[in-house]
Amino acid sequence: MLLNKIKSRISQILRDHHTFGDELVGKSFSRMFILSVIATLVSAAHILVFGGLSFETDIEQQWRLGILLYHSVMFVLFGTLTLLTRPSRQVSISTRRRITRVIHASVLVAGVVVTSIDQLVTPAVTPFLVACTVAGALFIVNPLTALILYSLLFGFYAFALSLTQGIETILISNLVNGLTACGIAIGLSWVLWQQNIRTLQQRDLIHQQKLELELSNRQLEQLATRDDLTGLANRRMLQMVATEEQTQMNRHKMPACLLLLDLDLFKNINDELGHPAGDELLRQLAELLTQTVRASDRVARWGGEEFAILLRNTDADQGMQVAENIRAFIEQHRFELANQKGVAHEVALTVSIGVARLDATAEDMLDHAYREADLALYAAKAGGRNRVVLRASAA
Ligand code: GH3
Ligand code: MG
Ligand code: MG
Repeated sequence: MLLNKIKSRISQILRDHHTFGDELVGKSFSRMFILSVIATLVSAAHILVFGGLSFETDIEQQWRLGILLYHSVMFVLFGTLTLLTRPSRQVSISTRRRITRVIHASVLVAGVVVTSIDQLVTPAVTPFLVACTVAGALFIVNPLTALILYSLLFGFYAFALSLTQGIETILISNLVNGLTACGIAIGLSWVLWQQNIRTLQQRDLIHQQKLELELSNRQLEQLATRDDLTGLANRRMLQMVATEEQTQMNRHKMPACLLLLDLDLFKNINDELGHPAGDELLRQLAELLTQTVRASDRVARWGGEEFAILLRNTDADQGMQVAENIRAFIEQHRFELANQKGVAHEVALTVSIGVARLDATAEDMLDHAYREADLALYAAKAGGRNRVVLRASAA
């Protein structure tokens, strides 16, 4: 039970590491410049202070030299790292990872080295405690890595201290303190990791929700501007297109036409083959109409079995021609439908089309043209169907 829990926790950590590892390296790296600057200044201060001091006993002199030597090395190391991590420098993710590791290791090794040199004159382990706290709070590493890293560090610390601390009781006390420091570092790493992972997960969640919202907005927009059955533009969409077109027509003095197309005796199809077959016919017709007109023209389902086509840059004569082509094309076309029992039928059908010119000066251009085209359509029906009629006033 507990074992399973630990297993799933570990695989969760590895998954998070895989997903966010690179980003977290980037995040740690952005703090490295400040850390390197501070470490360089701290080493410089130590060199200045210890360079000016002199001691009497050999052991004190040895301690002073040790500190001086150590901080000279650190000064050069962190000085170089300051240059390498300066914000203006472009660094690849793998280099960032490497530099961050070097700094992380340097901070920890510094803690061990200074503390073990300090043992020559004092039993305090403050540098090691500070190094562990700083590293735990600044470097984002996954809890597993932290556990391994600080365990190894403790081994190194115990070994280094045993070289310089000869008094057994102090050594034992310092080992216990060192263990506490490593425990603190592991705890801090854990908290830091959890917080960062949670922040990144929330950010991703917000991003995901934003995408979903955009998608549903698009779907809503689609619903509001498209006809469900045929996928064509609906009346509302055609109105938007017409409004835009009106501006172009006025600007460039371009003509445009509206065709109003109504299926002849469509009711019979529904009656004979059923409503679903009628729906299918409307879908096939929509497809045909879209393929027949130019890409710049716009086919819309006005409602029921009535379709409207807005022909851009087209005068009345050309509009009549297009309408006639559509009429003739549909007349010879055979729709493939199935009745309610699934029996296939080839259906011939005709359409009547009313044509009207779009008047760009009219305030309600589309409605006005629709009324005109509807009158022409009515005339086409009255004239015997399967024909095209141009609204007289448009000629
Ligand atoms: P006309 O030549 O005079 O236009 O005759 P018509 O039968 O086409 O005209 P009418 O207005 O009498 O009937 C239109 C028919 O269109 C009736 C209606 O059921 C059908 N219709 C309208 N919308 C749809 C639809 O979405 N699906 C189907 N299957 N039929 C529809
Ligand atoms: Mg009708
Ligand atoms: Mg009809």
